[in-house]
Amino acid sequence: MIEPISNELNDLVLNGLRDSNGTIWTINPYFSSDWKFMAIVLGFNAPNSKHFCPWCLCTKENIGNKHKVCVIEKTMDQIKLKPPPGHVKSPLLQMIPLSHYVPDELYIMLRIWDRL
Ligand SMILES: [Zn+2]
Repeated sequence: MIEPISNELNDLVLNGLRDSNGTIWTINPYFSSDWKFMAIVLGFNAPNSKHFCPWCLCTKENIGNKHKVCVIEKTMDQIKLKPPPGHVKSPLLQMIPLSHYVPDELYIMLRIWDRL
């Protein structure tokens, strides 16, 4: 069902958007939704699983560790070729870089407070 949107978005990212003046606009896509839909689009498992973070390789055991610095370790190319732990299906919108996926801030707050 998402294939027509995915194809059109991929075309926009690769070729840009041509307006009526002939100017070609570069498209830099971002994805924002609640955690559940973002996990579905990324082919990612549940937020209460061991590998819960879509961006880094931290685990449940790292929750509450104030000394661990989390950075975006994964890339979309890495997920496409050899999915790291937690990724169970291939991402649906592969043209969007992983650093451009932004979940609803409520889910980030609940994850930080260990309420999920
Ligand atoms: Zn993380």
